[in-house]
Amino acid sequence: MNHPPQNSQGNSRRLGWLLAVPKLGIVLLLVALLALLWLLHRNEAEEERTSLIKDVLWLEQNLRFHLNGNEEQLQQLALEIADLPTGQRRFRLRAEHMLKNSPDIAQILWLDRSRQVVDALPTAGNEPDSNAAGPPASARAFDVASRLGKRQYSAPYFLEGGRAFVELHVPVFHERRVSGMLVAAYPLDTLLANQVPWWFTEKYKVEIVDDNDLQYATKTRIQGNSDLRYEIPFDPPGSGLLLRVTSYHSPDNTLQRLLVAAIILLAAGVFLSLWMVRDLMKKRSRAEEALRAEHAFRAAMEDSLTVGMRARDLEGHVIYVNPAFCTMTGFSASELVGHTPPMPYWAPEQLEETLAMHQTVLAGKAPLDGFEITFMRKNGERFHALVYEAKLIDGNGKHTGWMASVLDITERKHAEELARQQQEQLQFTSRLVTMGEMASTLAHELNQPLAAIASYNTGCLNLLSSGQAAPQDIVPALEKIAAQAQRAGKIIRRVHDFVRKSEPKRAPCQLGEVIEDCLGFIEAEARKHQVRIECDIPTLPPIPADRLMLEQVLLNLIRNGMEAMAATPAADRVLRVAVELGTNELLVSVSDQGCGIAADVREKLFTAFFTTKQEGMGIGLSICRSIVEFHRGRLWVEENPLSPSGSGTIFRFTLPLEAA
Ligand code: ADP
Repeated sequence: MNHPPQNSQGNSRRLGWLLAVPKLGIVLLLVALLALLWLLHRNEAEEERTSLIKDVLWLEQNLRFHLNGNEEQLQQLALEIADLPTGQRRFRLRAEHMLKNSPDIAQILWLDRSRQVVDALPTAGNEPDSNAAGPPASARAFDVASRLGKRQYSAPYFLEGGRAFVELHVPVFHERRVSGMLVAAYPLDTLLANQVPWWFTEKYKVEIVDDNDLQYATKTRIQGNSDLRYEIPFDPPGSGLLLRVTSYHSPDNTLQRLLVAAIILLAAGVFLSLWMVRDLMKKRSRAEEALRAEHAFRAAMEDSLTVGMRARDLEGHVIYVNPAFCTMTGFSASELVGHTPPMPYWAPEQLEETLAMHQTVLAGKAPLDGFEITFMRKNGERFHALVYEAKLIDGNGKHTGWMASVLDITERKHAEELARQQQEQLQFTSRLVTMGEMASTLAHELNQPLAAIASYNTGCLNLLSSGQAAPQDIVPALEKIAAQAQRAGKIIRRVHDFVRKSEPKRAPCQLGEVIEDCLGFIEAEARKHQVRIECDIPTLPPIPADRLMLEQVLLNLIRNGMEAMAATPAADRVLRVAVELGTNELLVSVSDQGCGIAADVREKLFTAFFTTKQEGMGIGLSICRSIVEFHRGRLWVEENPLSPSGSGTIFRFTLPLEAA
């Protein structure tokens, strides 16, 4: 089947458009999901950052508060010990108290104006700066604090142990002049250890660094790397120190990555399935196209059929009728489909037979070579239909009903009837012709008894007129007259019987009697042609046949044989009629020793109006054949091998013993 290419192109374009919509939808959904994930991630990061900043600010404030507290206490101590002679005792008392309260202070020193240690707690050599030389950072802080008369933090410095320290210098005044210095040494790691609460280190790593990223102290629980950090200047120590807090918690992206991967995978899956669906739809659309074309082709075929088609299901409901069936019956498809028996096209007067046939069909016993039935058109007109029923098998090989092809054979029937009538007429005409041909012989034949009657009659009259007529003389003559009159009557009856016009009918008849009758008929003619007729007829059972028709066949064949022997020497003019009894049929043969039949003549022998005779009609053999075939027999011709001239002919025909 060829489909217009534009059509299928158009279809696939439409399909492409149809599939583009879900594709676009999926892409947009994917983008929206990724954007949502990104936004969530950003929010989370921002929240974490905010909470980090808050925590750092809190820590810084806490440290500052603590250091300020210590500053205040030292300041107080500086004031108390300034004028007191018992200053050293007070110093010890208060310093001890302070160290106890602030374990992050490693040592508290009391220096005099020249940076010599007046007292220190704890004392024994632990002091970072016992000889007061100390690290330069400490000296610098001492100087600045002395000069300004204000408390001052030193820059951070490292001792041998690698620990970083910061010192707080608080000047001691005596009579408004700096008389000494109180120094609190803070090891930065201890400061962090004591002042940063445990929960803070659970979340963050805390470092004290300077501008050059040099680390002075750290408090950490675990080693981790994260970009999320916040730095804030570490005041009050100042000197460029920074408090750096890094969040351990790097936002865990695994779940997010997994989600993204899953979304992409799912989207890919959806795309793949869309692709497959597209492929399937393409195939399906191609199949549909082919199916449509196939359907259109079949519909066109069905519509152009002149044979009516009717399908019924197993229960006998009409499930389909084609237009030809509708035209034939005059009912529309909608009037017929779904109908149950009796159907509207069944002839009411044959309802019983039709229903019986319907049931035979449903039982699967419909004749294979079809059956004839009378149907009725919607306008009431009857028509003859030839119906062939076949099983309706569906695509799965299941028997679902019965399909009938219905032929309107009314015309054919009519034509057949006409032909039959014409054939009958022809047969009758042929018999008349035969009679006409035999008329002179018959007249001659009839003449003999009539002449005999006339002469017996004259004899009787003479006897009577002589007056000597005794009844015993006249009676034999009168008896002969009667016999001759019977003979003449017989001839006339035969002629009458032969030309009688009658309907062909098969009734049991004795072939022997038919042949005898025929021979009686042809006797005179045979005598005239000097033909000897030999007969060989065994005892035969009666056969179903039309006696008159068989007579016509025999008469035709016998007369043809006699005519064929016109040139045969009179002594050899023998015509033989024989009958053989077979198992199912009788074989009748009529053999002559005549001129025989040439090959070209033999071919046309049984054609109507073929004759080689000047006054022949050429319909005899064709009628013989149709009569024999009417009796369901065969007629053929053979050469007669026994003919002395070597050119005789045998016509043979069979007749079945039983009616078919
Ligand atoms: P018709 O006798 O009127 O010619 P038929 O149909 O009886 O018509 O015969 C047709 C032709 O067949 C005859 O003209 C003849 O040539 C040939 N024919 C028929 N019977 C014989 C026969 N027994 N021997 C030779 N020819 C025959």
